[in-house]
Amino acid sequence: MKRYDYLIVGAGLFGAVFAHEAVKRGKTCLVIDKRDHIGGNIYTKEVEGIQVHCYGAHIFHTSDRHVWEYVSQFTEFNHFVNSPVAVYKDELYNLPFNMNTFHQLWGVVTPAQAKAKIQEQIAQMHIVEPKNLEEQALALVGKDVYEKLIEGYTRKQWGRECKDLPSFIIRRLPLRYTYDNNYFKDPYQGIPKGGYTRIIKKLLEGVQVCLGVDFFTEKGALLAQADRIIYTGMIDEYFGHCYGPLEYRSLRFETEVLDMGNYQGNAVVNYTDYGVPYTRIIEHKHFEFGTQPKTVITREYPSKWEQGAEPYYPVNDTRNTELFNKYEKLALDEPKVLFGGRLGMYRYMDMDKTIGAALRMAESELQYTAARS
Ligand code: FAD
Ligand code: UDP
Repeated sequence: MKRYDYLIVGAGLFGAVFAHEAVKRGKTCLVIDKRDHIGGNIYTKEVEGIQVHCYGAHIFHTSDRHVWEYVSQFTEFNHFVNSPVAVYKDELYNLPFNMNTFHQLWGVVTPAQAKAKIQEQIAQMHIVEPKNLEEQALALVGKDVYEKLIEGYTRKQWGRECKDLPSFIIRRLPLRYTYDNNYFKDPYQGIPKGGYTRIIKKLLEGVQVCLGVDFFTEKGALLAQADRIIYTGMIDEYFGHCYGPLEYRSLRFETEVLDMGNYQGNAVVNYTDYGVPYTRIIEHKHFEFGTQPKTVITREYPSKWEQGAEPYYPVNDTRNTELFNKYEKLALDEPKVLFGGRLGMYRYMDMDKTIGAALRMAESELQYTAARS
């Protein structure tokens, strides 16, 4: 039986970056994934000449020049800028919350007018120390923005009342007093030409990859083949859920090919009304300025996570954070295994953070093994 320096569980972005770095330093790696494709959640596939983001819209954006230069070795990015719009009943608003949104809401034109309007609404709330997402949102943006653009979307996304959610979730939504619809503030942004799967393919050149293999069903044989393991699956599953399962939020994607050139005129349209069961529709061709005769759209429905469903978002509330800390302690006592990626670390990480974390792990691990040998 062939032996490898590393068994890497998960052919997603984290596992692929680690494998690439290890092979570059002369190590041998076996990468396995239980899915039948590489790429994990950033997997894209071509349909009607369009790169379809199979696990939800993925826009690459970063402020980290090192990560940008690193990933640019494997792809060229286009000049896509994410400017989603929100539909609430029969109204349409620009996102993120900016002067265009405020003009659409109240007809205000100057930043001073918008600030005055928001301040007036905030003052009526009398919230001194926001204790949950609802209070945090109301204290930041006032009643109108909260009721039309946040409340319904957030309840759908997380399956809980905003009063029962931690406030940090909402801090990710930018609020600005300029006419700027660019969702991200990062200096580097784009969509990789030819899709994300191509990046993973390049990262995995020269690496042995076995798809359709679940670590837990083949554990004995797999462990016998490698000295060390990089595990990017769910940390609680690795330990047999011994402290109980961590909670996740899942998604269901409904994809359709439409016989028309342009369905919604934008890559991402959010539906913020609670009465609409999906949170957003993405029209994939607009990520690439596509001009194909057909179009592909995907409706994204948030859903409850149960064993066997895809764990898309960790639920980092107090209970789950405490539970994760217990698993993390166990992880420290596994001498041959390193836990990485969004499931191994139970943390929502954008792609740039995932790459950064994998590079840091590779740096310390591969230096350490070089020093040992
Ligand atoms: P994953 O991609 O989940 O890879 C882990 C892999 O491990 C999976 O392929 C899984 O099948 C495999 N695996 C798990 N358990 C086992 C097992 N027991 N045996 C074998 N294989 C196993 N980031 C951005 O920067 N921009 C965005 O716009 C953006 N949008 C997102 C939208 C959604 C809906 C989601 C969920 C995430 C988004 N992200 C975005 C984050 C991005 O998807 C992650 O940064 C990235 O996918 C993390 O890579 P990973 O390798 O850690 O995890
Ligand atoms: N959100 C919202 N209205 C929107 C978009 C987002 O209230 O139109 C809230 C929602 O609570 C969501 C959070 O902001 O969970 C972060 O959203 P974002 O789109 O930045 O993250 P993603 O869901 O893509 O990970």
